[in-house]
Amino acid sequence: MAKLFGTTGIRGLANEFLTPEFCSKIAGAFGTYIGGRGKKVLIAMDPRTSSEMVKNSAISGLLSAGCDVYDSGIAPTPAVQYSVRNLDFDAGIMITGSHIPPERNGLKFFVSDGTEVYGPLEEEIEKIFFGDKIKRVAWTEIGMVHQFDCVMPYKKMLLDAGIKNENKNFKIILDPGHGAQCSIVSFVLRELGYDVLTINAQPDGFFPGRHSEPDQKNLKNLIEIIKIMGADIGIGIDGDGDRTIFVDDCGNFIMGDITGSILTDDLMKEGDSVVTPVSTSSLIDWVCDKNKGKVIKTKVGAADVVAELLKNDSVFAFEENGGNIFAKINLCRDGGLTAVYMLNILAKRKKKLSEIVSEFPKYHQLKDKINCPDELKQKLTAKVKEIYCNEEVIDIDGIKILFSDGWMLLRPSGTEPIFRIFVESQTEERAKKLMEQGLKTVNEAVLKLKN
Ligand code: MG
Repeated sequence: MAKLFGTTGIRGLANEFLTPEFCSKIAGAFGTYIGGRGKKVLIAMDPRTSSEMVKNSAISGLLSAGCDVYDSGIAPTPAVQYSVRNLDFDAGIMITGSHIPPERNGLKFFVSDGTEVYGPLEEEIEKIFFGDKIKRVAWTEIGMVHQFDCVMPYKKMLLDAGIKNENKNFKIILDPGHGAQCSIVSFVLRELGYDVLTINAQPDGFFPGRHSEPDQKNLKNLIEIIKIMGADIGIGIDGDGDRTIFVDDCGNFIMGDITGSILTDDLMKEGDSVVTPVSTSSLIDWVCDKNKGKVIKTKVGAADVVAELLKNDSVFAFEENGGNIFAKINLCRDGGLTAVYMLNILAKRKKKLSEIVSEFPKYHQLKDKINCPDELKQKLTAKVKEIYCNEEVIDIDGIKILFSDGWMLLRPSGTEPIFRIFVESQTEERAKKLMEQGLKTVNEAVLKLKN
């Protein structure tokens, strides 16, 4: 059976893979899976050019399975997940391509607790789809469409989580990247008393100002404007509003690992746990030691992070790409809450972001990759484990080798024919040495396996 779900929902080229026929059928399969007749499904979309077409096709599929649909128009992914979890919905669908190129789009499916469908649930839906097991209801039982605004309860939640700003000179440059948070985060921050200047703040599926991934390259205008305006902080958000990246008052791009560690330092009480992938900086270990808490390391990927968070009843989880989960408020990655919480910390401590970052130890992380055919990945992982059998290793996702002065993670990519190499140390020189060693190890092992 072909696999439709990737690492996050179902994604593909609009009108090639994601045709109206496909979107209607997969939504019909999802509607059947959640129980069909009378089930209440919340649906929303990002501003991509294909989102309206995909959404309307999905609505048709849900109605034909007997579900009642609550259409929220354009809304961020965390707003949909918040309403599904806290209001009277049985499920949700978000039409979004998140951070991927504009010609592509996707569907994310949520169950009644607001978490994303994954693993065995994906297989169930695929079975219904490929086995033509969609239950089409009689004409008297076809569902109805209602309008519903999931943005209002989301805005209220963000406002309730925020602290009123008293520093009238504090200036924010906000770059929501033409995405689903465009009108929301700026509104909330102004309500909280901040002076907010926005760029790329009109929803636009062509993404004329920047691509929707908030990485250092795409945030270069934000970085420049911070320096020119002498602003206090820059906030960059991804296309569907679940991930946020910060730029400090000196124009430095702040890695998500550092943001996650600053947020943990604020949230964690003695005995609490946080969840983060095995590739995250050792800075989080330092923060957890300091606060007498525990860090739980998972495989790389949002679904594994959420699963561990639920299992351990953790207070917080984060990924280096700017995805932060404030578990006690909204059980999903939330770009709006990330912005509000970081500003709360600056307001409480009356410090600039650059000053707070400087209070933490500095770690140097390097990343690289080597081509590796999919069929060799498993053998290569075993080979690497054998090579480092005398060292301390963590093998939950690839092989992470722990040295006294740094670490090296060698892991196969889940989506591409490559092997990734991550290294980290407190000195740049040692990080470079570790990277040389990692590249040499993997290259030699690939050659041996090929011969
Ligand atoms: Mg996203």
